[in-house]
Amino acid sequence: MDSSPEEFDAVVIGAGFAGLYMCHKLRDHLGLRVAVLEAEDGVGGTWRLNRYPGARCDIESFVYCYSFSRELYEEWEWTSKYPAQEEILRYLEHVADRFDLRRSIRLGTRVTSAEFDGDQWRVTTAAGAHLRARFLITGVGLLASAPFRPDFPGLETFAGRWCHTGAWPREGMELEDLAGKRVGVIGTGSSGVQTIPVIAEVAEHLTVFQRTPQYAIPAQHHTIGPDELRRLRHSYDEVWEQAHSSLGGFPCDPIPRSVLDDTPEQRTAEFERLWQRGGLHFVLATYQDLLFDIRANQHAADFARDKIAERVRDPRMLELLLPPKDLPIGAKRPIIETGYFETYDRDNVALIDIRADPIVEVTPTGIRTENDHHDLDVIVLATGFDAVTGPLLRLNISGRDGVALSEQWAQGPASYLGLAISGFPNLFTITGPGSTFGNIPVVAEHHIDWISDLIGHMLDTGYARVEATPEAQQEWTATMARLAAKSLIPLADSWSTGANIPGKPRTVLFYLGAYSTYRKRCDAIAAEGYRGFVFER
Ligand code: NAP
Repeated sequence: MDSSPEEFDAVVIGAGFAGLYMCHKLRDHLGLRVAVLEAEDGVGGTWRLNRYPGARCDIESFVYCYSFSRELYEEWEWTSKYPAQEEILRYLEHVADRFDLRRSIRLGTRVTSAEFDGDQWRVTTAAGAHLRARFLITGVGLLASAPFRPDFPGLETFAGRWCHTGAWPREGMELEDLAGKRVGVIGTGSSGVQTIPVIAEVAEHLTVFQRTPQYAIPAQHHTIGPDELRRLRHSYDEVWEQAHSSLGGFPCDPIPRSVLDDTPEQRTAEFERLWQRGGLHFVLATYQDLLFDIRANQHAADFARDKIAERVRDPRMLELLLPPKDLPIGAKRPIIETGYFETYDRDNVALIDIRADPIVEVTPTGIRTENDHHDLDVIVLATGFDAVTGPLLRLNISGRDGVALSEQWAQGPASYLGLAISGFPNLFTITGPGSTFGNIPVVAEHHIDWISDLIGHMLDTGYARVEATPEAQQEWTATMARLAAKSLIPLADSWSTGANIPGKPRTVLFYLGAYSTYRKRCDAIAAEGYRGFVFER
């Protein structure tokens, strides 16, 4: 029976980084009646789901967090340069408690559809409940709710245990459960590269199935001692000022010249400095043309290849691990590693090049490739995500006149600023397709502040609905395409172009300008009375 819907001012979908802060802003700053719907049985989003062995963020802890509360920033004690999954989850749980958010969150509540009825949004859950709200805001992240499981024939016949890194089971797959087992890992992106060295330490045997060798940059990870912690906790103003005026949402000092301006000795010294700094700095805090000029990129790629060569002893293994010459470094989202390449010197690790020897099927006892059968007890799919659009399309959203988002985006997504979609009034997509790319908690926090300001403006002025105009959306999409065409990002088959999912429209899913420029554009649009939006009473 169709029960009458519960009424709210706003429904927020997802209780990860985005949903938690959105709830705080709408409920505690604007005084709205808010329901946060979360499919999982706890808060945390990405950091609840991606609990594979070795899962760790590859952005530094002191800036992979919220900036909205100085007190929160100063009281939280990060224990290491790159926070482990369980530490970030603990942080988010702390935020949910500290700001009393749990009373507005409904756990275990999966949204199955959301329809705009001409006036309000009507949201339906898997349990058949209905909620009605003026505003609908998605905080479903870029990746986590849409793991990609390639259609390997026979997977369902496998007698051992299998899982995806992004939907790691709660039981029976802890690291100690993998001890003494024959484990296969398919995929060598960020997730695979993090879990492979950790699993190799305990497994009887590990077989890695690699399609494309990747550049991977050392994390130069370390634990945070008391002095560093004190310094970080007292650098709130400096950290956030730098992060908000940066390229990618974290403090960095890019080199304001071309790779080609420097002598070979100078550029080697700069590359070495950034390599030792560790993490994303090699690709993002670097020469200004590294991601835009193939000749400039080639120098950095050669440097990275030489670094890999220094770390792999077996020449046959090295040949398999070196990224192809035509793959620019940074064209795929950079992978940050700890001990990855040394793993292949272990006697219990095998690397299968599945371009030369493709996977044919999964059998009850392992994986059959064209030339061999690999006996396995456990299979780990580290095969990535139907990124950015996948989490949104799974919500079955339909807008004005019943037009489905999936229909509107059949040829690829289009949005205004990654935040709003023409034809979908009062719907806001935190970090949606078309938004800037970078340190996601920081990007999300900016979106949330911006959305809250817009809703606050509507409350003050008595507007009922707001919607992006088709012209503004077209112009934004053209801006994105123009920036993408200048960069090297489209040259790689990766999730940020949709190329990792068979049949998905290929298009760069982000605005590739600097995060600081994106912020300024959003702020200017707000200052001009929300240019590109139409309001209705
Ligand atoms: P990913 O980067 O998309 O990598 C997927 C891997 O699976 C690639 O090696 C891919 O090979 C392989 N693959 C995909 N389909 C396949 C198929 N049908 N057969 C065989 N191999 C296949 O996914 P991810 O590693 O999960 O990372 C996704 C993103 O999540 C990252 O870029 C990052 O943004 C985020 N992440 C971050 C962290 C962190 O903070 N440290 C950790 C994990 C993930 P090809 O390269 O040939 O496509």
